[in-house]
Amino acid sequence: MLWQPLDRLPGVGGARAEQLARLGLRRLVDLLFYFPRDYEELTEVQAASDLVDRQPATIIGYFTDMQLRPLRRGRSVLAALLETTEGLAVRCVWFNQPYRLANLPRNVPVVVTGVVRRVDAHWEMSHPVVRPWSEGEPVASGIMPIYSLTEGLPQWYMRRLMQRVVRRYAGWLEDVLPEEFRRTRKLVDIVQAVQAMHFPEDWRQWHEARRRLAFQELFLLQLAMAWRRKRSEREARAPVLVETPQIRERILRLFPFELTAGQHRAIAEIVADMARPVPMNRLLQGDVGSGKTVVAIYAMLLAVAHRHQAALLAPTEILARQHARKLAETLAHGRVRMALLTGALSARERQETLAAIERGDIDIVVGTHALIHAVEHQGLRFRQLGLVVIDEQHRFGVEQRARMRQAGVDPHYLVMTATPIPRTIAMTLFGDLDLSELRELPPGRQPVYTYCAGEAQRPRWWDFFRKKLRQGRQGYVIVPMVDDQENEQIGVRQAFEALANDTLEEFRLDLLHGRMSGEEKDHVMRKFASGETQVLVCTSVVEVGIDVPNATVMTIEGAERFGLAQLHQLRGRISRGRHPGFLCLFAQNPSPEAAERLEIFRSTTNGFELAEWDLKLRGPGELLGTRQHGIPPLRVADLVRDRELLEEARRDAQLAVDVDPELNHPAWQSLKRVLLHRYGKVLDLADVG
Ligand code: ADP
Ligand code: MG
Repeated sequence: MLWQPLDRLPGVGGARAEQLARLGLRRLVDLLFYFPRDYEELTEVQAASDLVDRQPATIIGYFTDMQLRPLRRGRSVLAALLETTEGLAVRCVWFNQPYRLANLPRNVPVVVTGVVRRVDAHWEMSHPVVRPWSEGEPVASGIMPIYSLTEGLPQWYMRRLMQRVVRRYAGWLEDVLPEEFRRTRKLVDIVQAVQAMHFPEDWRQWHEARRRLAFQELFLLQLAMAWRRKRSEREARAPVLVETPQIRERILRLFPFELTAGQHRAIAEIVADMARPVPMNRLLQGDVGSGKTVVAIYAMLLAVAHRHQAALLAPTEILARQHARKLAETLAHGRVRMALLTGALSARERQETLAAIERGDIDIVVGTHALIHAVEHQGLRFRQLGLVVIDEQHRFGVEQRARMRQAGVDPHYLVMTATPIPRTIAMTLFGDLDLSELRELPPGRQPVYTYCAGEAQRPRWWDFFRKKLRQGRQGYVIVPMVDDQENEQIGVRQAFEALANDTLEEFRLDLLHGRMSGEEKDHVMRKFASGETQVLVCTSVVEVGIDVPNATVMTIEGAERFGLAQLHQLRGRISRGRHPGFLCLFAQNPSPEAAERLEIFRSTTNGFELAEWDLKLRGPGELLGTRQHGIPPLRVADLVRDRELLEEARRDAQLAVDVDPELNHPAWQSLKRVLLHRYGKVLDLADVG
C-alpha cells in the first residue's frame, strides 16, 4: 500500500510526479517521511482590541504607504503600513528584503500574520507572513508546515497533497518500536508522530512527535553499531597481545620523559583492549603535542613484542615521512625493523618493501594510502598484522577498516586525531569506537598567543615577526587555499615573491604547496626542520602534524576562509616547543559568521572546546560528513539538541543486544528489517540473521 508510486494518486499528474521525484519522493511512504523544514504559525483573525504585546496575531487589512529605505553597507528596511477597517494601523517591517516592495499586494485585502510588538504608541510586526485574501474566504489558522520545494512546485500544492496523504495513509504505517518499549519511554506511536510532524495541533504535540522520531533514528543507528560490535566480539579473531612487566619496562625505557597521567590512562585502555581476542577499535583524541604519537608507539611496540607487525597510516606523504623519522629516532638502538611505504617509491623499491612485509622482515610499516592500495589491489598479505594505527584521519570509516582485515585475522585499530570531535558526533559516526582522550599537555609547554589584526596593524605585526626570527625562531606564513590547484600555486608563489623581496627580504624563505612532489616537499621540510630555512610560505598542506619545535610565529592570511578545525590544526604547528607561540590572523571583510568564528578561535586554544563550538556553529551535518561515511543522514535528530536522547538511545541499544544478541524476539522483527535495510550494507550486517 505505502509503496504505491505517487503518480497513482489522484491529482498527481506526470509533471507533478516528476517534480516530486526531484525531491526524492516516489512512493507514498516517501511523502509521509518528508517532514517540513519549518512551520509558520497562523493565528485566528484578531480584532484590534485583542492584540497582545509579543504574541502572534493575524490581521486582515490593506497596505498603505510602503517605503523602502536604504541603510548603510547595502542594507535596507522596507516598511509598509497595514490599515484595517476598524482603523487599526500596524507597521510591518522587513530588513534587507528590498525585492518585497514589488511583491506586496496593493489595493487588495491581505491576511498578515506575525508577532506584534508595542512600539511607543503603535503596533509593529517584523517579517510577517503576507497572503492575499478575498472577501468571504475562510482564513487558515494553526501551525502550517513549510516544505522544501523544487522549481515549479508551489507550497500550497505540497500542503494540500500532504494533508490528503497524511490523513488517508499515515494509519497504514507499522510501528517498528514495540508498544511496551514505547510505553516505558513515553514515546508516541508512529502514526501520531508522523501526523503531528506534518500538521501539529500545538507545539507540545509537535515536540512529542519529533522526540519519538529522533529517538527512533538514533536508536536504529546505535542498535546497528551495537549489533555489529556484538558480532565482532563473538568472532574474536584478533591476536591476543598481553603486556608483561618486562615488555612495559622495555618500552618505557625508550622515552626520555615521564608519561603524563593522560598518556598512562590511554595506554592502560589500549593495553586492556589488545589483551582481548576482540579487535580493538579505539579513537585517541588529543590536541597537537598532547603526546598521541607516543601512545601509538607504545601500542605498536606491544604488538612487535609479540612478533606481530604494526602499520601506521598517515594522510599525507610528508606526515608519513615525519613519522618514519621520529620512529627511527625513538627506536635507534633497538632491533625493530621499519619500512616506509608511500606513493613516492619506485616500482622496484615498492616490490622489495612489499616482499619484506610478506616475509615478516618488517615489524613496523609506516605508509600512506598507498599501503591500503597495496592490500586491496596488489594482494599484499602481512605476515602477521597485529595493529593498525591511523593518524589524523576521520576518513578511515568503517568500510576502510574492514579492508585491512587480513586472511582471517582482524588487527587491532587505533585511530588518532588532533582535531577532537564532540562526543555526540563520535558516538554517532564512530558508534562502535571506544574513546580515549588526552586532555592535558605534557609539562613545560608554552602557550600560543593569538591575535586578530586589521590592515592597520600589519606593519607592527611584521616588525614583531622579524624580531622573533632575529632571535633565532622560525615562522610560517599561511596563504589560503583556492579552489583549483593551478591558481593556488600562483597565489602562494606571488605571496612568496612579495615576502622574499620586501617584508622578509633579510631572511631565508622557502615555499611549500600541494602541487609539489613528495620528494620536493620532503626536501623543503627537511631544510625547514634543520633550521636552514627560517620561514616557510605555504598553503594549508602544513595543516596536519608537521613538527618543528623551533617554529613559533605564524601569519595566516585570508583567515576568514578557514574553518575552526583547520585553524586549530594550523595553530598546532607553533605549539610544539619550549618557546611561546605567536599567531596573527588577517581577515578580509569577514562575514559576521566568520568574525564570530575568529573571535572564538582567539579566545581558546583548547581543541575539545573548539570542537563543541564547531558543532554549534556549523551544525552536525557538515561535521558528520555522512555521505562520505555511507551512513544515511539523520533527518530528524539533531546532535546539538538531542544529546541526552542520544545517550538514552545508546544505552537502550546496548541493553537490547545484551539481552537478545540476534534481535530474534518477535517484537523486534519489523525494527530488525528496517535496520538491515538502512544500515545492513554500510555496516556490513547483512549476513547476520
Ligand atoms: P601528538 O602526536 O599528540 O601531536 P607527540 O606524541 O608527537 O604529540 O608529542 C609531541 C612532543 O612532545 C614530542 O616531541 C614528544 O616527544 C613530546 N612528548 C610526548 N609526551 C611527552 C611527555 N609525557 N613528556 C614530555 N614530552 C613529551
Ligand atoms: Mg602527531
